[in-house]
Amino acid sequence: MSNFKHKYLDIRRFLSELLLAAVLLVAVFLLAAELDITKRLHAWSQGHEAWELDELVFSVLVVGLLYLGIFAYRRIAEIRSLVEEASTDVLTGLLNRRRAMELLMHEVRRAHRYRRDLSIILCDIDHFKEINDAFGHPTGDQVLRLFATLAAGRIRGIDLLARTGGEEFMIIATETSGKGAADLAERLRVAVESASFGIDRTVTASFGVSQLRPGESFAALMQRADERLYRAKRRGRNHVCGPPARAKDAGSVRSRL
Ligand code: GH3
Ligand code: MG
Ligand code: MG
Repeated sequence: MSNFKHKYLDIRRFLSELLLAAVLLVAVFLLAAELDITKRLHAWSQGHEAWELDELVFSVLVVGLLYLGIFAYRRIAEIRSLVEEASTDVLTGLLNRRRAMELLMHEVRRAHRYRRDLSIILCDIDHFKEINDAFGHPTGDQVLRLFATLAAGRIRGIDLLARTGGEEFMIIATETSGKGAADLAERLRVAVESASFGIDRTVTASFGVSQLRPGESFAALMQRADERLYRAKRRGRNHVCGPPARAKDAGSVRSRL
């Protein structure tokens, strides 16, 4: 959907620019007719016999067309990079919050329509402020980048990973039950705990997992994952809280303990 939507927006913008060029062309034509430009040009050419009028008009046409082509190409490239920038987190290269929310809304609609499983994982690095305070902001940034690389390497190709805040991340696990997402979160938790982040300290993260319920809005899905994330924090951090094993995301807690 994301690529499709971007392409659709690009094409729409391109068509509107084309329409603008056409309107300009008609306006110039009408102006030229109104001001008798051709007559004036003809009169001017009579006074400059050495210059061939048709050659001059041809040159102007070629230059004009070339200019239009370059203008259109540059605008398309500019729009592409703007769309890309608007969707990407600069530090980690992951999707940013705005884009993640758009994609989640789309996935929620899709999951409802085709009755598919959809789960999300919210993740927050534990005591990240202390890492910044102890090792400095640039090292904190490096930890965030390594965390992003580690998480990106452990999700499936069809899952979406976004940086949704300072040290907060979200995984949109399509076609995945709450249990499947909680298992993935648990694998991530262990991977983070055992990874080296280049600092003399163990980095851990807490996770909240929720599965979409029938008819549920994307905001309710997010809220439940958020509540579980904060429950994981209250339980001492370095925890996964998700749906219970038996009921389909009935709201109770599943912790790693
Ligand atoms: P908790 O375990 O409760 O999540 O504690 P925490 O310290 O991780 O959470 P808190 O919200 O208190 O602090 C988050 C810190 O993340 C504060 C902020 O300065 C830092 N931060 C936010 N964005 C960035 C960033 O882009 N780079 C760096 N280095 N730090 C950031
Ligand atoms: Mg936080
Ligand atoms: Mg934190």
